[in-house]
Amino acid sequence: MPAIDFRAALNDEQYAAVTAEPGPLLVLAGAGSGKTRTLTYRVAYLLSQGVRPGDILLLTFTNKAAKEMLHRVEELTGVEPRRFWGGTFHSIGHRALRMFGEEIGLPKNFTILDADESETLLKQTVDTEDKAFFKDKTNPRPGPLFSIISLARNTRQSIPDTVEKQFPQYSEIKYAIQPFAAAYAEKKRAQNVCDYDDLLTGWLELLEKAPNIAEYFAHRFRHLLVDEYQDTNTLQSQIIDRIAQHHRVMAVGDDAQCIYSWRGADFENIMTFPERHPGTVIHRIETNYRSTPEILDLANGVLEAQPKGRHFDKELRAARAHSQKPMVVETIDDREQAEFVRKRIRALIEDEGVSPGQIAILYRSHFIAMEMQLVLSRAAIPYHITSGVKFFDRQHIKDIVALVTFVYNPGNEMSWQRIACLLPKVGEKGAQKIHAAAREHAALLRKDFIDALHTDDVLTKVAKDARADWPSFCDSLSEVAETMRTAGPARTIEIAIDGWYGDYLRGAFADYIERLDELKALAGFAARFETIQDFLAQIVLLNGETSDRQVDPDAEAVKLTTVHQAKGLEYDVVFVIGLADGQFPGRRAIEAGDVEEERRLFYVAVTRAKNELYLCYPKVATKAGPGGMLLTASRFLTEINPALYEPLRLRRAFW
Ligand code: ATP
Ligand code: MG
Repeated sequence: MPAIDFRAALNDEQYAAVTAEPGPLLVLAGAGSGKTRTLTYRVAYLLSQGVRPGDILLLTFTNKAAKEMLHRVEELTGVEPRRFWGGTFHSIGHRALRMFGEEIGLPKNFTILDADESETLLKQTVDTEDKAFFKDKTNPRPGPLFSIISLARNTRQSIPDTVEKQFPQYSEIKYAIQPFAAAYAEKKRAQNVCDYDDLLTGWLELLEKAPNIAEYFAHRFRHLLVDEYQDTNTLQSQIIDRIAQHHRVMAVGDDAQCIYSWRGADFENIMTFPERHPGTVIHRIETNYRSTPEILDLANGVLEAQPKGRHFDKELRAARAHSQKPMVVETIDDREQAEFVRKRIRALIEDEGVSPGQIAILYRSHFIAMEMQLVLSRAAIPYHITSGVKFFDRQHIKDIVALVTFVYNPGNEMSWQRIACLLPKVGEKGAQKIHAAAREHAALLRKDFIDALHTDDVLTKVAKDARADWPSFCDSLSEVAETMRTAGPARTIEIAIDGWYGDYLRGAFADYIERLDELKALAGFAARFETIQDFLAQIVLLNGETSDRQVDPDAEAVKLTTVHQAKGLEYDVVFVIGLADGQFPGRRAIEAGDVEEERRLFYVAVTRAKNELYLCYPKVATKAGPGGMLLTASRFLTEINPALYEPLRLRRAFW
């Protein structure tokens, strides 16, 4: 292993943490202060002290972060990544269960269900336990039901408590859900399958119930290191505590960046770490190496707006030279916002030599990026969407596009399949039969295809469970068809959302409000097109184009990502778009009167920037129909001192 000059690479605070005596260590520091760097150097330091790679367990939140960290360690020390145990909680839990699952009755050849499969299995379970459950429209559909059970497991709360706190709309039946969770668990056992949550609960069960395994882990992993500790949930922090019985654990985090409480993350875990690990030495790093002083001042301004006493106090000093202030950019609408970003990016790349991969566009929710995608595609600026699913690939967006496509061209069986299969108990075959019957009927009676769907002959082909929904399903298709003949694409989509599909959405997803907002945004987007053909063609092209550009995620391309997915990362230039009230903070948070987590998310967003930061918002939200909805700048902008940024107001004439 090459000799490393730890002194030269680290400041005093970092050096102290990296070279600390083995024992519980908590590194608490603000964004960009080198926490991840400290963790990486700690691994290198341990190796230099004769610790074997196999003795180290490294836990992080995303696969990307884990890979990146092991890569950095390899660069520093020459030790290959595969010699460490490192990865996300789920990946390590998986490994643990493959090795020892039998101890808790899980055969070695278990398989893992993805999210869709888990939901399907839960639905089947409920169907056998209580045939009437899903018939009652006020009960949670499989999606929300799964979310409730999952959140309860991740926070180690009872189901009734979880419902009471996070899903109060189902309070009345909170006790009825418990038996389903038990039956679902039983079914998984019988089929020898695990869902994602089982990878964590199973791992913890191993540690709790098999003392020899707990012993093995504690002994094997003499050193445990955890990045982004503020986002651990109860389950994860209990796993850490169990493994780190020897207390040689280094946890690194920033409570001001806790952004996953909706998934059960609890920054109390970081606050109470010293209680659970007696003798904890807390290290603080107070220098920020990432951002210019101007960006840092603004970030500190964001935190000042946060209620006091809820966080560890942290002071951040800038290490870098002065530069320009962040810019707050007000534009007329989404389109102008996207055009502004496009122009600036073009100049950055062509005139200022910034590499496209060092430019990021961040947003609160996927739908905000819709216009941006279109504008970048048209300008042939390569981009890569790093957030999980692209906007146009989201299930509900595809559903509505399929619905409209089908109405436009009822011969399109792919689109028909997609929407018909949303009806209860209608599968591919069933959908085919209905389509064939309607086709025949339409030909025979020279009827319009959609009119033919309404006939009794066709109804006989519809699964019994779907018949209650069938009339509203058909009516909705007819209404969409009628609108398509008389109005534009935006209105057509609105009518589609208002009809049967809206009811379906409400039943199917716990987060249907956000999804509905996204669909409304899609309608707004559609308002730019004259005809439904233009709109549909554009969506197809956009999808094709973006997927072509998706091949190599590390290729030199501008990054488009939600703020959640950007955590821990950094870019030379950052644009945050959609900074209007209702967009960021989101409408739901405002209505719930709790924007603290959103503000932390905003803090994460601004602290990704190294050199330049642009905070943009549209004055008008495009929506279907005439006019638009007037927006105001995000409260996160208005609450900070205007001296901290440079305002820029764009009028249409600017272009
Ligand atoms: P976040 O809270 O966003 O996860 P972080 O605290 O983990 O941030 P790092 O990503 O480790 O911060 O570091 C931020 C940047 O500062 C990196 O580019 C890193 O290389 C640089 N940096 C950190 N410490 C030093 C140092 N002592 N000397 C030079 N550069 C440093
Ligand atoms: Mg980090």
